[in-house]
Formats: sequence, structure tokens, C-alpha cells
Amino acid sequence: MSKVFKRTKILATIGPVSGNGSKQMIEDMIMAGVNGCRMNFSHGDNESREQQMQWIREAAEKKGRSVAIIQDLQGPKIRLGELKDNYYEVKAGGTIFIDYAVKEHQGDNVLPCQYNLAPKVKVGEPILLFDGKVTTRVKDIPSETAIELEVLNDGYLRSFKGLNLPETDFGGDIIPPKDLADIAWGATRDFDYIAFSFVQTAEDIRKAREILKENNHPGKLIAKIETKKAVESDENLQEIVNEVDGVMIARGDMATEAGAEIVPVVQRTLVRMCREQGKLCIVATQTMGSMVENPLPSRAEVSDVANAVIQGADVVMLSDETAMGKYPLETVREMKKVILYTQNHVEVASLGQAPNSNDQNYDAIAEAAARLAERLEADVIVCQTASGATARAVAAQRPNLPIISVTKDERVANQLALMYANSAFVREYSVNQGIDLARELKESGYLHLREDRDKLKVVWVSGDLNEGGTNTIKLRYV
Ligand code: PGA
Ligand code: MN
Repeated sequence: MSKVFKRTKILATIGPVSGNGSKQMIEDMIMAGVNGCRMNFSHGDNESREQQMQWIREAAEKKGRSVAIIQDLQGPKIRLGELKDNYYEVKAGGTIFIDYAVKEHQGDNVLPCQYNLAPKVKVGEPILLFDGKVTTRVKDIPSETAIELEVLNDGYLRSFKGLNLPETDFGGDIIPPKDLADIAWGATRDFDYIAFSFVQTAEDIRKAREILKENNHPGKLIAKIETKKAVESDENLQEIVNEVDGVMIARGDMATEAGAEIVPVVQRTLVRMCREQGKLCIVATQTMGSMVENPLPSRAEVSDVANAVIQGADVVMLSDETAMGKYPLETVREMKKVILYTQNHVEVASLGQAPNSNDQNYDAIAEAAARLAERLEADVIVCQTASGATARAVAAQRPNLPIISVTKDERVANQLALMYANSAFVREYSVNQGIDLARELKESGYLHLREDRDKLKVVWVSGDLNEGGTNTIKLRYV
């Protein structure tokens, strides 16, 4: 089994330290092992994003490897406005007002907000400010634009910090005008995935898909699971997973909205549900959080990443660590070390049942290919894949060796960059393409010969669209 290819992928958020003006940092992070980049539409502007996306594509080209780009929409995230001196101190038992009509904060307890909450909230509902650092409860709704809050703990606030309203019913309105504008912009750009924030139900996803279709957006759809409503029951999670191409386990807002103690259990459930259907699964937020400040991760963080690897997640994600931390590159390197060590010493947890993507041909052939490759101690599985479905089905088996995918579609190759164990290459189609590629990768030193072998042992999976898709497994020596 290959000890140098990481099978769990790294997704890095681009931000001020990795993005603004730093072409080199983006290139270095990709060289260090980043497989996908997240453009966070909660911050920044389209002009810099455009520049950053170009740098990502250039770096990927230089490395000779596909990299995925995700458009991550802000969703119905409500934020405070600007605070005087970027600071406001609160005390337990005190009162603050949040007033949509206030345009400039005077330093008193009437705070501006980018959204009018008065028509949405009810007296008694909790409102969490600044990622849950300040807890409050609605005491009164004194006008059409203002709400009065009782503060429940000592703390402070800063400008533009987010609000969480776990009990408030927004009436299924999760795609605000800003997202619609961002979708329209993204549709004309080079995005491989698009992520929707604060999803509550499968119905939200069906609406989101309609909008993507109307806009002709090229991205595969990811649902960020982070609301109290979404995690309410396993049935609701399952319905959401059924509708999406992938899931982001968005542990930051999830902990604030529904309680930190539920996060590990929800993570376990979602990884399993995604694996069962061969859908992309991303474990996100605070994976290496302390590295925003420190050059090394905490023991708990190392353990967290290792756990995601053992559970069989496709991707572990970095947020502030690469967007605004002091050690973006070191973080990627540390994360890669943990992934490699873990995969080389522990088997991925068994699902207990074979994955089922609703296409029996693909699933059966993928299962046979993966088990064959493991049993014969093959060096690599090569997939010839048009839409990516074959590569995805093989990856869903979580084989303990690398998958090299060949496709003629660049979008598919980029999307596969985040898929478990996959390295995707764009090539024109021909009968022997996969085998030719394996030979080429061997000659370039990308695939290494084992010491006790004089040839690469390749399990080759391919298909014929006239014969119902994937239909061939071959053992080849290269
Ligand atoms: P965010 O999503 O970083 O866009 O808030 C991830 C999370 O909430 O964990
Ligand atoms: Mn979030």
C-alpha cells in the first residue's frame, strides 16, 4: 500500500494571509498538499477572488495536479453592524438593543445590525452573539426595527460579528439576495463546487438546486450542516444527504446553535450517511484551530484529524488557520503528517454494509475492483471515468491504495481532487488511456515501484457507455 499518497484530502480556506497579494502562499500551500480551496463569500470581494482563483489554477497547473475550488455562500448569516471603536462591553443582567434603523453606533447600548430582526423573533427566544461568546434572550420588541435583549453573561462584542438564532423560524427563507447575486456571479466563473450555508431541510436543497440550474452554475452542490433544525433528527439529516452531492459538517455554527456536545455524534452519523451513498464528506472547523496562533497543533487537534481519517471522511478543512492564521503553511504540513501516519497505521472504520449509490452496476464493479486491488496488493487503481461516477463508486469502497482517475472533462477532474484517494488527470479518451497514464506516472517518478517488484501492479477499471457504463476490471503490469 502506498505510504506517500494521502487518501483523506485537505481543503484550505483562502483569506487575507493566503489570498491578498500572496500568489506565492497559494502556490506553497498547494505544493504542501492542499487539494481544494474554499472561497468564503462571507468576507472579501469578487475582484480579489477572481485574482486568487487564477493563482490557484496556475499553481495546480504547475504542480500537474487538479485542485478543486469551492464557492461557499454566506447564507442567512446575520451580523452586527460597525461598533464604535470596534468594541462594546456587556455585563450579565444588562440590557442591549439591536436596532436595524441605527446607522451609526454612538457607543451606547443601541447596536446596529445588517438585518431587521424585529419581525422575525419572539419574546423569550435566545440570541447568541459573537459565535456564542455572549448569550442573550429577547426581552421585548419595542419597535418595528428594534429588539431589546437581556444579556446573560459578561463579555464583549466586536463589529460585524455573527448572530445565531437557534429557535427563530425564518420560514424556509435560507437563500438571501446576496447569495442570489453571488450564485449569478459564480455561474460565470470557474467553480467546481458550491456550498449552501444554514441549510435546514431537504426542501431548501431542492430550491437551491433549481436556482443553480436556472443560473447554469457549474458547481456540484454541498450542504453545510450547521443549524439546530438540520440536526434535529437523523431522518432530517438523511433526507438532506439524499438530495446533495456533498456535505460539510460545519462544526462551528453547529456547536453554537445546537450545543457542542452533539457535534461528534452528528459528525459520525453524517460521515456514515455520505459514505453509504458515495457522497463527498467534509469535516470542517477548528481541525487545527490553535495553529492560528501556534506553530504546532494541540494533542486534541491531532486526535480530531486522525479520527476523521479513521471514520473515512473524504476531506478535512482548514478555516481561520489558512485564512488569517500566523502559520498557514505549517498547518497544512502538520495536517498532512497526521493524515499519512493515521492511514498508514489504522484501517478506515468499516461501514458494516456496502455503499449503495443507487446504481448496482457501478457499485458491484467498484466493490470488486477495490477488494481485488487490496487482496493482490496492487500499487494503484486506475479508473477511466467520464462523469466521475466510476471513480466515485471506487472511492466509496475506501480502498487502502491510491486511485488514479482519467477523464477528459476538466471540471470532473477538479471535483475528483477532493474525493477520497483520488488523483485525477485530464486526458483525451482512448482505449488504453488509463494504462498509458500509469506508465507515464511511473516514468515521471510520481508512482513508485515497490522494492520487491519490477513492475507496477495496476487494477484497471473502465467502461463503455454503450454497455451500460463501467463494465471492465483488468489486472495489468506496467
Ligand atoms: P463558516 O462555516 O466558516 O462559513 O461559518 C463553517 C462552520 O460554521 O463551522
Ligand atoms: Mn458556519
